[in-house]
Amino acid sequence: MATFAAERLQMVHLSSGDLLREAVRQQNAVGRQARRFMERGTLVPDRLVVRFILERLQGLGSDRPVVLDGFPRTVEQAVRLDEMLTEEGHRPIDLAIDFEISEETVVKRLVGRKVCSRCGANYHVVTLPPRESDLCDRCGASLSARADDELQTIRKRLKSYREETSGLLEFYRSQGKLRLLSGEPAIEEQYQSLVRLLQEERLA
Ligand code: AMP
Repeated sequence: MATFAAERLQMVHLSSGDLLREAVRQQNAVGRQARRFMERGTLVPDRLVVRFILERLQGLGSDRPVVLDGFPRTVEQAVRLDEMLTEEGHRPIDLAIDFEISEETVVKRLVGRKVCSRCGANYHVVTLPPRESDLCDRCGASLSARADDELQTIRKRLKSYREETSGLLEFYRSQGKLRLLSGEPAIEEQYQSLVRLLQEERLA
């Protein structure tokens, strides 16, 4: 959803998962350490992730709005993000949007997900198939399942969400920044709800 919305709204999309997967492919210092956590479906420790992602954010050099996807995932990450934005004189986080979704739907979506090896576009074998089997509509590169979209790993990722990420909801709620949308409908309907929300908030 974040990739889809950022592209349509001409915002910069920064996905911590994409950046970490790239680091793993490059086998750089962060990638070598992050890999085992990602394969297991647990969060990469804050001490590795925070600096890595904040440096990417600082290096964006764009004045377009940024959609942060998958970061922050712990309260510690959120605090460090706020500190960095304040210290560097950037605009604070406008909103945190939680797309509420049942675990059953998450499992169905992730088990059928296919991702483009070049541009990162997401597809689903049933609900959003590419025009040509296993080829990306946007750039023509091959599609494959993510290694961590295997059922057992998905269950662990859900567990880490419940244990470590759900606390973020209270963090942003207490700042008056949390907004809830349903992640259950098809992507186009979710997108329309998101646009309505951003218009109400005068952010689009
Ligand atoms: P994602 O692409 O957002 O589903 O992330 C894939 C994997 O990358 C997660 O299961 C984690 O292992 C790791 N990861 C991504 N973002 C973070 C983050 N903010 N903090 C810790 N680990 C992360």
